[in-house]
Order: sequence, then C-alpha cells, then structure tokens
Amino acid sequence: MVKTYNIAVLKGDGIGPEVTEAAINVLQTAQDVSGLKLNFLYGEAGYHCIAEYGTNLPTQTITLLKQTHACLKGPMTTPEEPGAPVSVAVQIRTMFNLYANIRPCRSYPNVEALKPNIDLIVVRENTQGLYSGIEYEIAPGTGIALRIITKEASTRVAETAFKLAQKRRKHLTYVHKGNILRITDGIFKNAVKDTAAKYPDVTVDDMHIDAATMHLIKKPETYDVIVTTNLFGDILSDEAAQVTGSLGLAAGANIGDNYGMFEPVHGSAPKYTGMNRVNPTATINAAAMMLNYLGETNAAAKIENAVTAVLKEAKVRTADLGGTATTTEMTNAIIAKIKTL
Ligand code: NAD
Repeated sequence: MVKTYNIAVLKGDGIGPEVTEAAINVLQTAQDVSGLKLNFLYGEAGYHCIAEYGTNLPTQTITLLKQTHACLKGPMTTPEEPGAPVSVAVQIRTMFNLYANIRPCRSYPNVEALKPNIDLIVVRENTQGLYSGIEYEIAPGTGIALRIITKEASTRVAETAFKLAQKRRKHLTYVHKGNILRITDGIFKNAVKDTAAKYPDVTVDDMHIDAATMHLIKKPETYDVIVTTNLFGDILSDEAAQVTGSLGLAAGANIGDNYGMFEPVHGSAPKYTGMNRVNPTATINAAAMMLNYLGETNAAAKIENAVTAVLKEAKVRTADLGGTATTTEMTNAIIAKIKTL
C-alpha cells in the first residue's frame, strides 16, 4: 500500500517562495521514485499576510497545520517594531511544543569549509530563553527582557541531544554562560548533568558560549552533538553553517512529541528576492530531514545522496558556493541525480 502524508507548505517571504518551490519539486521526484504519496497543502503565512489578515499566521493556516503530518516552512521576514506580530517560526514552535531545534552541519566534498571533516549537530532549546520575547520598557530608555529557563524544558531537549549522540560519535558538549547567568544557566547545566546519568556511554563536556564560538572556528571537527539554550543555539548554528561552507546548505528540524516543522536555517534574504540566484539546497536538505522524521528513510537518502553528488561534482553550484548556477539549475541538477543514482 502506498503511504500517504499530508504536508503543510508555507512558502514565506523574500526568497522563501523560490527555495520552497525548489524543495517541492525535489520532493515530487523523490516520492515518484520511492512509492509514497505526499499531499501538499499550501497555507498563507509571513510578513506579506499582515496587511490582509492583521497577523502573519492566520487562523486558517493554524487549522491547516493541525490536519498535516509535518510542515515544510520557507523563511519569513519578521517585523522588528515593538508590538508587531512575533516570528511565525517562534509561534509554530510554541503552539506545537516543538521543543528541539536540530541543526546538522557537515563538510561536503568540494565545498570550501574551514576543515574537511566537520560533522556536528546543534540541538537548540526551542521554546524558551530570550526567544520568549517577553520584554518591557520599564522607564524611558530602560528595557528588560525575560530569559525564561525551566528544568523541564532543559531536560527534554537534553534527552533529544543525548539520544542523537548515542546514534553518532557518542560525544555531547553543552554550551552555556553559567559563570554570568548563574541561575538560568545553572538550571540548564543541572538538567543536562542529571540527564547524562542515563547515558553513561556518551562522553560529556561543557563550554562557555564565548569559548564555544571561538572553538567552532579553531577545531570544529572535535564537536559531535552540541546542546544549548535558544539564542546561543541560533547563533552557533549560523556560525557552524558558514564554517562548513554556506548558510545556503544548512537545514533545521523543529521537533516535538507530536509534530515536526522543517525549514532552512537562513532567513528571507530580501535583497535576493525573485532573482533566481540563491542556493535552494538548505530547503532541499530540510525536505530530506522531513522525510526522515516521517520514517521515509530511503526517500530521504535519495535526496541526501543526490545533494552530495551534485556538490562533489562541482559542475553546478550557486553564487554562495563560488559558482554561477541559478536556483533552478541547482534544483534541476539535484532532481536529475535522484533519477539516476
Ligand atoms: P538571512 O539569512 O535572510 O540573510 C543573510 C545573508 O545570508 C544573505 O544576505 C545572503 O548573503 C545569505 N543567504 C541567506 N540565504 C541564502 C541562500 N539560500 N543562498 C545563498 N545565500 C544565502 O538573514 P537576515 O538578513 O538576518 O534576515 C532577513 C530576514 O529573514 C529578517 O526579517 C529575519 O527576521 C528573517 N529570518 C527568518 C528566519 C525564519 O523564517 N526562520 C530565520 C532567520 C531570519
């Protein structure tokens, strides 16, 4: 029997529609060669919705998300004025309790990276920390932001990170700033240490965030799984993406107990909108992560192998990788490889 999945697709803003379409085309090829059926249900979300709906995540889109097995989300532009709607990604992560943001970064053959043998995953706590977005201007010119950290949320993201480490090189680094943020990062540190007792086969070390950002440039190959709080994880994963070649390759999974949302790590890069110039691979890699989450590991491997093969051949590559190929050409090269590998 053909397995069927309902997939919510939110194309987003800026370069979002072009990279999301690219990933849908790749998924359509992967489903055809793998014998599964993906029903794509398109929803409206993003900055462009605010004028029409007064929100960047309309109610009908939330209803649509609830009818699906997973969501493929393009990048969206987030307004920065106080009081404006908060980021769609943050809203969906909170609404569906997608507590672990999993962002793998690895060196690819023939892609210029700081080291050739980097293979790490940043696991970022996805629902709390400074992304709670709770801020007050308590007096003109004086603002405070609440950095909420709980033992419960820290423990569940630590569990996810330890389970991943167990399947990999069995090395986990927890990153914090416990020397300054003694209470909040103290809670996070203790949660990781308590969880470690359940995974005696995993080697654990810890690092302050400032040292970790430096070490990620100096010896990136020494990291396996990094687990950290929300803002530190966002920054470290962008850095890891560039260290391994380009933000145009990095994808992220937002996972909870009942739902998953998959997106590129990069944003809507407005200056490249509609230019058919950016790298679609990050969103294509996000699509492969989604297939893995759905248990369709063969279809996911076809996409992953096709991406690696195209990068290794180095004939078709976008500007961020030093080439001249368009978004469409890069997508078509990956699709052609899926059909032939
Ligand atoms: P950005 O990731 O959009 O762009 C930074 C730079 O990275 C770009 O100028 C470009 O040089 C490069 N880049 C990004 N994607 C690329 C791709 N696919 N191929 C090649 N190069 C690429 O970050 P920003 O400029 O800080 O943010 C722009 C907007 O995106 C903001 O409104 C921000 O809030 C939003 N954003 C959204 C998400 C999300 O939807 N999850 C994530 C990050 C930023």
